[in-house]
Amino acid sequence: MRELTELRAEFPILRQRANGYPLIYLDNAATTQKPETVINAVNDYYREANANVHRASHFLSARATHAFEDARDTVRRFLNAGHTDEIIWTRGATEAINLVAHSWGLSTLKSGDEILISAMEHHANIVPWQQVCQFTGASLKVIPIHTSGELDMEAFRQLLGSQTRLVSICQVSNAIGTVNPVSDIIREAHTVGARVLIDGSQAVAHFPVDVHALDCDFYVFSGHKVYGPTGIGVLYGKRDLLQTMPPWQTGGEMIERVSFEGTTFNSPPFRFEAGTPNVVGALGLAAAIDFLNQCDHDQLQAHEKSLLEQATEGLNAIPGLQIIGTAPQKTSVISFVMEGLHNQDIGTLLDQQGIAVRTGHHCTMPLMSALNLSGTVRASIALYNTEAEIQALIEAVAALQKDSLSFTTETEHATTAATTI
Ligand code: PMP
Repeated sequence: MRELTELRAEFPILRQRANGYPLIYLDNAATTQKPETVINAVNDYYREANANVHRASHFLSARATHAFEDARDTVRRFLNAGHTDEIIWTRGATEAINLVAHSWGLSTLKSGDEILISAMEHHANIVPWQQVCQFTGASLKVIPIHTSGELDMEAFRQLLGSQTRLVSICQVSNAIGTVNPVSDIIREAHTVGARVLIDGSQAVAHFPVDVHALDCDFYVFSGHKVYGPTGIGVLYGKRDLLQTMPPWQTGGEMIERVSFEGTTFNSPPFRFEAGTPNVVGALGLAAAIDFLNQCDHDQLQAHEKSLLEQATEGLNAIPGLQIIGTAPQKTSVISFVMEGLHNQDIGTLLDQQGIAVRTGHHCTMPLMSALNLSGTVRASIALYNTEAEIQALIEAVAALQKDSLSFTTETEHATTAATTI
């Protein structure tokens, strides 16, 4: 096991300055930075192992195929799935959800069926289901949240019924950091015979995930949010279920036999991987998982929890600042708004001091509407962030608030003076 302070040094991008200040990268929920091992895995593949996989009988192709399938097994172990054929490569969480929506959704759902999602879903876990409902006549139901950002579990139980065919829900909210009680949701959904898809995009970098223990039917995540490359992601599906599902995209690799009279399809996972896959992405993701496995998970979680507590306490003390999302179960994301300052202006002003945060609706427009907000400022934490960086964020935000208050006071003075005159 390696110390977290030692691991930070392996992220070359973090050594640079931004706008004249040391870069403080707090936009990890959007994408994480990559350690040397991931960068080297990508580089080495193109230098030494590039070939198409599963096709040719030559040396390089055999080497690439072997590495590609080893990477699949690394992901299987990462999620504690039972079989490598339960791991399907996709471009990311978005494509994984679309795959389930098109393959399972279109072939299974009909009018009268219901899909349950929550009010805090990312657009990637809303729009594909809206499309499926439009095509099949099924309807989309939304589990509301409390003002704290916790799911309303009573409402979930009321919405759940024999008509529910799928519950599709995030494990962690990308906008407000709430950790949802997915074990309970899966267990209860199964009692009515519904399938469950867990969007683990914001979970996998922060705590261990065990799909076997969870007993979810599908689990999705993106490689780039767990220190891996962009353009690669994963769909886990239960073996029996995947075997019953029709292909989504078609072409090379996903077939067993093709003639002009008809085609028979390969078995999972290949049935769902039409065309040349993102081989280098898969190797990069496996390198990222190997990297993460070098950390002590308890230490990582304790570190991120302590940074989140520090940020919460420090930001809460700033007058006029409101933290959005105060669920007791939260991880690595802190969202806030400030009186008299637009979230985008805050983002720009922080950027001028080298602090990278995300502003806006975070691809969760319905959540923002439910909270009656147009957007928030979001700082999101990764294993390489430090106490000093969180302190710098708090101080920079506090200074903005002081500036904005003096600005407001001066404006008020000017207005008062004008009225008096
Ligand atoms: N779900 C959640 C909770 C996310 O945070 C994201 C990315 N912001 C996605 C889905 C979509 O991931 P990607 O864009 O990598 O496909």
